[in-house]
Order: sequence, then C-alpha cells, then structure tokens
Amino acid sequence: MSANAQAPTRKADPAAAAVDKTPDVHAFLNEVAQRNPGEPEFLQAVHEVAQDVLPFIADKPEYRDMRVLERMAEPDRIISFRVAWQDDQGKVQINRGYRVQNNNAIGPYKGGLRFHPSVNQGILKFLAFEQTFKNSLTGLPMGGGKGGADFDPKGRSEAEIMRFCQAFMSELVNHIGPDCDVPAGDIGVGGREIGFLFGQYKRLSHQFQGVLTGKGTSFGGSLMRPEATGYGTVYMMQNLLQHAGEDIAGKTCVVSGSGNVATFCVQKLTELGGKVVTLSDSGGYIHDAQGISAEKLHWVMELKNKHRGRIEAYASEFGCDFHAGERPWHVPCDLAFPCATQNELNEVDAAALARNNCRAVSEGANMPTTPGAMQVLTDAGIAVAPAKAANAGGVATSGLEMSQNSQRYAWTREEIDSKLQTIMAGIHEQCLAYGEHNQGVNYGRGANIAGFVKVADAMLAQGVL
Ligand code: NDP
Repeated sequence: MSANAQAPTRKADPAAAAVDKTPDVHAFLNEVAQRNPGEPEFLQAVHEVAQDVLPFIADKPEYRDMRVLERMAEPDRIISFRVAWQDDQGKVQINRGYRVQNNNAIGPYKGGLRFHPSVNQGILKFLAFEQTFKNSLTGLPMGGGKGGADFDPKGRSEAEIMRFCQAFMSELVNHIGPDCDVPAGDIGVGGREIGFLFGQYKRLSHQFQGVLTGKGTSFGGSLMRPEATGYGTVYMMQNLLQHAGEDIAGKTCVVSGSGNVATFCVQKLTELGGKVVTLSDSGGYIHDAQGISAEKLHWVMELKNKHRGRIEAYASEFGCDFHAGERPWHVPCDLAFPCATQNELNEVDAAALARNNCRAVSEGANMPTTPGAMQVLTDAGIAVAPAKAANAGGVATSGLEMSQNSQRYAWTREEIDSKLQTIMAGIHEQCLAYGEHNQGVNYGRGANIAGFVKVADAMLAQGVL
C-alpha cells in the first residue's frame, strides 16, 4: 500500500493513533527509577503524575517530543551541605541540609523547609516535584523547590533550635533570594524557626528582604499565613461538596496530625458547622465523640506550640479515648482530612473509610494516601482532592506574602482570606476543566494535567534548558 493510501485510514481513527503514540508509562518510570535509585517516594510522586500526563500528551508532540515531563522529573539542581552546630552540652552535632530546586519556569523556586529525622534527598525530591505542580495550580508566579535537614527538633531547647537554624542558614544563604528561591516552613519548621532563619539571613546578607515566607507579622509576615494551608484544605472540600450539591455543616470529620495544618483545618471545619472527632501525632490518636470545640482546640494549640506536648494529654484533659500507635481512619466519618505526613493512609485504612460510607477526602498533608489506598477510595466512589490542589492554600498565601513584601504593604485579614478563597475556587475549577467526566470528577487527573500545562507551556517558550 502506498503512503498516500495509509494516511486517510489513520485520520479516520484518531483514537487508534493516540494509542499508537502513547508513551509507555512503565518504560518512562523504569527510566526514572534507574536514574533515581533508592528514592521510593520520588518515584511514587512521579508515577502519580505520569499516569495522567502521559496519556494526555500522547497526541501532543509539542510536549512529548520536547521531553517536557522528563525534564520536570529531573531537578534543576540539588544542593546538599553539612550543618555542624553545638548542643547545650557543648557537643558538636552534625546534620545534613538540602535544597532541591526543581523547576523555575514560571517563577522563583518556592517551597518549604522540613526538619525531621526522616528527611533525605528522595523525600525532598518528591516534595519539590509535587510543589512544582501545586504552585502552578495557584495561578501565582512561583516555581517549585523544597529543602530541609535530618535534624530532629523534638526535645531540643530553644537555644539549640536557634543555633541549628543559624548553622543551616549560614550555607543556605548562598542559594536563595527574593527573586531566586524563597523557602517557607513545613514539618518541624514553624514561625519560631522561620524567625531564627530570617535573622541569620539578614545578618549574613545585610539585606532586609522577603526571602522567607511564614515570617512574624512584625517583620514582613502575612496575616493568615499560619491558617492558610489548613483553611485552604477545608475550602477545597467546600468547593468539592458544593459541586455535588452538599455542604460541610453537620458532617462528622476525621483529621490526622495536630500540627499547623491539622489544627487550622479543625478550626475552619468547626467554624463551618462540621464536627471533628479526632486528632493525632506520631504517638497515636484521640477520639472525642463529643467533637473538638473551639475551646478544646485552643488548648491543643497551646499544648503543641507552647509546651511541645503529646496529643495523648488531650484524652486525660477532656476524658476521651487515646489509641496508642494507631491512626484515626477506622473512626466512622463523612469526611476525612489526612494532615500529618506522607503515606499515612493505606489500603486497609481506605477500606475502613469506604465501609463507614466516608463521602470525600481532602489531603492536607503531602501525598498522604498510598497508591493502593487511592485505588480503594476511587473504586468506592469516594472523591479525593489531592494534596497538590487541596493544600495549595499555604503556598498561595506565601505568594501573597511575597507580593506584600515587594510592595512594602500589608493587606487585611479579610482581604487575604477572600483572595485565598478565590484561589481555592480557581484550583477547583482547573480540576474540573481536566478531570470532569460522565461519572463524576477525577480530581487527581484534573490537578495533574492543569498543573502540568502551565509549567510545560512556559518551558516550551523558554527553549531547551
Ligand atoms: P507540623 O510539624 O506542624 O505537624 C506535623 C504533624 O504530623 C504532627 O502532629 C506530627 O506528630 C505528625 N507527624 C509527622 N510525622 C508523622 C509520622 N511519621 N506519623 C504520624 N504522625 C506524624 O507540620 P505541618 O502541619 O506543617 O505539615 C503537615 C503536612 O502538611 C506535611 O505533609 C507537610 O508537607 C504538609 N504541608 C504543610 C504546609 C504548611 O504550610 N505547613 C503546606 C503544604 C503542605 P509528631 O509531633 O508526633 O511528629
């Protein structure tokens, strides 16, 4: 058959053409696995994106042939450094610090710093990769990065935390800047640590610049930044439920974690008429069937932020159950909010949520749901707002902090909350644009493709880099 004779046949069957050209997801992942040995969380994050993006670009040679996704899965650079400091006994301690600058196609690198003993290069690469898509979804000009150290702040004195932060910043200062890379907080890095890091940056650079977000409001921080991730996770759920003709009021909610994201998630849920019955930390979870009221939550915030206490103390203070070493997903609920850490909700947990007729999940933590659990939830018809959409309110408000710093101006709480709600509604719309289908909405696919397209178009415009 001549070439001319073949052409109409291919045109007549565009679906077949798409299948012909679909890159093999497994081949793609094998290549990524070979380049990144011993980094399971990074592979998991790339897999989640690739399974949606590769079929989407199968008939779009502009993305496929320019190997845009392959480039996104290779960080621009990874900085790794020694952090040496002295503890209160005068003993020299050594930790490893990192900054992963994943992609700056649409703006300066932006993403938090995590201080936790589990931190390693693979975990930070997964977080920086995710951050690239998340920041794109916010609609603000921010690239993706992430950093941290394998330092355990638990049990350390205030002076030790300060010395560690100063030692960490003494190296990081060479790699960040308001138009280059703007870190923020994450697990183990809250307002106190950001203050120490900012002070050291200022001392070394002789510049008062908006180089970190999550700062105290007396030195350039934005109102609402502490609340933003938890509130945004709830606003995402609100949008999801409203799209299905429902609301948060009257719903029983299960929340994991008891740090920044979890506590402000509980605060907003309670304000909107939800009843939150659990909180957790790495020691276990409390189940308060009466609901965690505003007063009880205030007590938890004092416990965690001032006294650095354990959630177990809640059970004796308010007379409820504490389940040592367990996670809260078997407690019956309408809505679930994993807000602690990655892979904290597995297949067995997901089956329990399905059995108890849970309606929807909004991920406050990054990648909290294992791939197996995601499958169980999807099969059960439970809507899942993925982390890169649901917890983007935090970085979005960091973006608003950068804008305020540039203008040397401060917006009111109401102005920022209104902008945050608009941004979360916009993210929900983008999920619908690429994720809505006959049977409902695949929020994961919607978020992955919408996040990809904006970054990919910027990369194409800027040439092969
Ligand atoms: P915090 O350090 O304030 O709180 C973390 C909470 O999770 C603590 O209750 C902690 O318990 C618990 N936790 C941590 N590791 C584990 C574990 N392995 N098993 C059980 N519980 C654990 O962190 P954040 O609230 O800031 O962050 C929580 C999640 O949200 C993370 O995935 C983070 O990446 C994500 N996130 C945070 C943003 C922010 O603005 N802060 C923005 C976007 C995402 P314990 O004290 O016992 O360790």
